[in-house]
Amino acid sequence: MIPVSDALDRLFVLAHPLEAETVPLAQAAGRVLREAVEARRDQPPFPAASMDGYAVSGAVAGQSCTVIGESAAGRRFDGAVGPGQAVRIFTGAPVPEGATRVVIQEDVTRDGDTITLGQDLDPGPYIRPAGYDFRAGHRMDAPRILSANDIALLAAMNAPQLRVTRQPRVALISTGDELVMPGDTPGPDQILVSNTFGLHAMLRALGAAPRLLPIARDNAASLSTVLGLMDDADLVITIGGASVGDHDLVATVAGQMGLERAFHKVAMRPGKPLMSGRLGNAMMIGLPGNPVSAMVCGHVFVAPVIRAMLGLDAAPAPRRTAPLAAPLPANGPREHYMRAALDADGLRAFERQDSSLLSVLGAANALIVRPPHAPACGIGEGVEYLPL
Ligand code: AMP
Ligand code: MG
Repeated sequence: MIPVSDALDRLFVLAHPLEAETVPLAQAAGRVLREAVEARRDQPPFPAASMDGYAVSGAVAGQSCTVIGESAAGRRFDGAVGPGQAVRIFTGAPVPEGATRVVIQEDVTRDGDTITLGQDLDPGPYIRPAGYDFRAGHRMDAPRILSANDIALLAAMNAPQLRVTRQPRVALISTGDELVMPGDTPGPDQILVSNTFGLHAMLRALGAAPRLLPIARDNAASLSTVLGLMDDADLVITIGGASVGDHDLVATVAGQMGLERAFHKVAMRPGKPLMSGRLGNAMMIGLPGNPVSAMVCGHVFVAPVIRAMLGLDAAPAPRRTAPLAAPLPANGPREHYMRAALDADGLRAFERQDSSLLSVLGAANALIVRPPHAPACGIGEGVEYLPL
C-alpha cells in the first residue's frame, strides 16, 4: 500500500501531455489552449462612440450646433467636426476627427439641422479610445481551459482557429458477471452498471473523449477480449475486479497482456484496490468496483491524470478548507475521503459512509479529506475538502 500522493506521482510519470491539433473557434470551448494567441489588431480599432448622440468639438450648455453628417456603426463620417458643428453618431460608430466628446441624445433638442445642447450636460465623454479593450499583440497565454468568455475574446482578437490539445481517448471497461446496462432487464441477482456512467460523465466534463466498451465478464477470456478492444485509447480504465478475491481477474489478465504495473494498492478509503501501469501504448488504471469508490478515485486520480494529458499542470485535485459544522472521530491509517455537505455553517460528514451508497454521494457537495491517523476534530476546526 502506498500513500495517495505517491500514487499520484506515479500516475503523473505515466500520463504524458498529448499532441496539439487545430480546431475552429466555434469548436474550441472547453478545450485546452496549447499555443498562446496574439491579437492581430487593436480593439476597438478606432475611437468609438459608447452612446447614441452627437459628436461635437467642445460643448457648452445651451450652445447650438449645425449637424453636418452622420456616423453609424460600420459606416463612418468622412470628415472632421469643427467648433459649432455636430455629427449624429450611434453606439459603436467611429468618432469623427476633431470631436472631443459625444453629447448623449437625451441632452439635446433638435430642430432640422440644428441642435441645442441642454443646460445640465452629462459630462461624458462617451468615447472609447482605439485599443481601449486591447492592443494588437495582446496575448492569451497557454495552457488554459477555454471558457465561453475566452472564446468571445479570441474572436475579437481575430483568431479563427486555435491550437488545442487533442482530447484524451479513454476506454471504459466494466467488469462483473452481475452487471447489466441501464435499460436492460436485470435478473434477480443482477445490478445496473452505474459508476461507469458516472466516470463517463466526469471524463466528458474534463474534456476527454470517453468510450464505453462492452461489459467484461468475470473470466479471463472475456476480460482479455474486451481489453483487446481498446484500440488506440490513451487511457484504459477498468472498473471492478481489482482486489484479490477469486473473481478479481484484472491484475492477472492485464499482467498476462503485458501490463507494466506501477502500483496496486493505495492507502485510502474508499478505494484501496487501485492499480495502474502501462499496457502497450496506453496507460491503464484499474478502479475498484464499489460505486462510490470508483467515483472518488475518479475525482482524486483520474481527473488529475486527464488534466496532465491535456497539457495542464500535473497537480492533485485542488483542495479548500472550511470549518466543521459537526465533530469528526479520529481517522485510521488510510486517507479518508468522507462524503459531506457544505453549507453556511460549515462541513458536516454524512452518517453513512459505506462505499456502495450512491444516494449519499449524490447528496454530497464535498469530500472531506482526513489524513492518515488524523486526531478527532471538533466543531469550528478547519479541515480540507474537495469540492464536488
Ligand atoms: P469488485 O471490485 O468487482 O469486487 O466490485 C465491488 C462491488 O462493486 C460489487 O458489489 C460490484 O457488484 C460493484 N460493482 C462493480 N462494478 C460496478 C459498476 N460498473 N457499476 C456498479 N457497481 C459495480
Ligand atoms: Mg467484480
